[in-house]
Amino acid sequence: MSAICITRANIDGAVTDLAVRDGRIIAVGTDAAAALADTPHETFDAAGDLALPTLVDGHVHVDKTSWGGPWISREPMETMLDFMTADADLQVRMRAQSPVADRAGALIRHAVSRGTRAMRAHVDVAPQHGLANLEGVVQAGSELGDAVDLQIVAFPQMGILREPGTAVLLRQAAEAGADFVGGIDPIGIDGDLEAQLDLVFGIARDTGVGIDYHLHDEGEVGARQVIAIAERAQREGMEGRVTLGHVFAYEGAEPATFDRMSRAVRDAGIALVTVALGGEPVLPVYALRDAGVEVALGSDGVRDSWSPFGNAEMIERCHLLAYRLEVFTDADLTHAYDIAAHGGARMMGLDESRLRVGDPADLLIVPGAHSAQVVVDRPVPRAVVKAGSIVARDGRFLLPA
Ligand SMILES: [Zn+2]
Repeated sequence: MSAICITRANIDGAVTDLAVRDGRIIAVGTDAAAALADTPHETFDAAGDLALPTLVDGHVHVDKTSWGGPWISREPMETMLDFMTADADLQVRMRAQSPVADRAGALIRHAVSRGTRAMRAHVDVAPQHGLANLEGVVQAGSELGDAVDLQIVAFPQMGILREPGTAVLLRQAAEAGADFVGGIDPIGIDGDLEAQLDLVFGIARDTGVGIDYHLHDEGEVGARQVIAIAERAQREGMEGRVTLGHVFAYEGAEPATFDRMSRAVRDAGIALVTVALGGEPVLPVYALRDAGVEVALGSDGVRDSWSPFGNAEMIERCHLLAYRLEVFTDADLTHAYDIAAHGGARMMGLDESRLRVGDPADLLIVPGAHSAQVVVDRPVPRAVVKAGSIVARDGRFLLPA
């Protein structure tokens, strides 16, 4: 483990020093260097720039990205089925040209260089792919060592009931290293709420993994699924181990429906993840904060068949979230940052990095006066510190020693 003394960092408006050893912050203050007097260490001069917590990408698809490879051209598509078919076809073609581990690794390194400390990666599991994507992302993660905390969801992009063979593969994935079993719109995709929940919760129960759902269904049908999953999570004793992504049922929800869904997910300890992608609904993160619901932020698909956009940069994702929600005040801009930093950490079960003594040394150094300005400016971090090591400088990833 390395030790670092970061000098002249702006922490909440005060310029001070920060000592890091064995992956933790061991001293903060103008005399912090004294804590490393007997320890060989490197010094990083922040020169008055901000020190902020690094960020968590709570929902990303690193397995199907074209990142680092040739440009992908896309044809117009109409239905969800068009998208799903094109997605599977493109993935098979891309895997023939370059391994999943290479593309996933390139994207994760880029994300880390821009300030990501942890990712929850959804990897497609379907008969068209077998476990190839899971194996590729596991390999990419192992090659990156301690530079990022990676959790993997075995994700049935093509549905479970409508794509025979998927349930068996999900179970194999959960036994082969996935941390979560995924699900997708039990009604909208599979057409049978209880049957899909039986399969997903059954795999979780038998293998000990958590559950992370994609829920795109809107309106009352969407709300019914949110509540059914929350009730099932409580019944199965899975409080705190279930995540719901997108949850478009919140879009335009009546106050009574908002309250019913929020109470159900809060009581089940469920975290929600929003992605602020394009024109799709964004979770009402400020109302959810007031309702006591945990929310994290993710970047979703990056330059895959679903979208030509994306870069897995979480500072930019904070910007997009704040922009989409027409945020105005510094406090609300800062909350957009905090959702990605602290909401994501809590969702992934990581210690929050609040730059206090004892916190994980997961932080970045970036120009700006405060996090509200960073959310607007989207600067490239001058340094990214992960588990006590500098893992990136000026946007370049450095493999930790
Ligand atoms: Zn997704």
